Amino acid sequence: MQFTRRDTLQLGLAGLAGLSATSVMPFTARAEGKGDRYKTDSGEIVISPVQHASFVMSTPGLVIWNDPVGGKALFEGQPAPGLVLITHEHPDHFEPETLTAIVGADTRLVVNPSVMEKLPADLKAKATAIGNGQKTEVGPVSIDAVPAYNTTEDRKKYHPKGRDNGYVLAIDGRRVYIAGDTEDTPEMRAQKDIYIAFVPMNLPYTMDIDQAASAVEAFKPAFVYPYHYQGQDPKAFADKVAAKTKDTKVVLGKWYS
Ligand code: ZN
Ligand code: ZN
Repeated sequence: MQFTRRDTLQLGLAGLAGLSATSVMPFTARAEGKGDRYKTDSGEIVISPVQHASFVMSTPGLVIWNDPVGGKALFEGQPAPGLVLITHEHPDHFEPETLTAIVGADTRLVVNPSVMEKLPADLKAKATAIGNGQKTEVGPVSIDAVPAYNTTEDRKKYHPKGRDNGYVLAIDGRRVYIAGDTEDTPEMRAQKDIYIAFVPMNLPYTMDIDQAASAVEAFKPAFVYPYHYQGQDPKAFADKVAAKTKDTKVVLGKWYS
C-alpha cells in the first residue's frame, strides 16, 4: 500500500487538532515511507536500511528509527521518528548531535541506562531508560530490552554483559528483534516467534558469520537482516543460513555506500 495524498491530508488535520504523533493511529495504520514491506495484523511494517546499524521502520501507529547516527542529511525523505531506539553508547550507535537534529516535539527515546547518563538535558526529558530484562511501551509498541554482549574472552571489553541493549518489539502482532552489538548469546539463541531480526556480524566487535548463522538456525526468525557487517560478506552469511534452515529468509539491504 502506498502513502496517499488523502493520508497526508488526514495527518494534516490530525496535526491541526493537536494530536500527538502516537495518537493518530487510524491515519498512520498505512505505514509511511519506502522500503521492504511486511504484513502485520492490521497494516504493515516498512523497513528502510540507512547505514551500518541505522535504519527506519514504519509501523502501524509509530515510526521507529534505530541507532540514528551520521547526520540528519542521511535520513532525508524518511518519515519523522515517533520513537528513537538507542542500543548503546558507541559512536556508530549514539551521536548526540544527530539526535538533537532529528528529534521532534513528539519524539520519544528509549535507551539503555548508560546512554541515559550521556544524553543532553533536553533529550533526557524525552527519554526512557530500560536495562536488560526491563520493558516499556511507546504508543502501540511494546519494547523489551534483551542483553547484548560479547562472550569471547578477548572481545568482552567491547560490550561487557549487562550494559548494552538489544530490543524485541511487539508490533501489531509481529515480533521484531534488533540484536544490537552482540555475539550469539544464549539469550539470542532462545528467542521465540521472531518475525524479523537484525543480526550484527563484524570483527572484532561482534561475531563472525559462522556464529551469526548458527544463532539464526537456533532461533529461526522468518526474516533476518544482516546489518552492522563492515568487513564481512553478507552473501556468504546468506549461503550459510540457507544451508542450515529453510525457515529463515535472509534479506540483504544496502547498508553501506
Ligand atoms: Zn558497540
Ligand atoms: Zn557497533
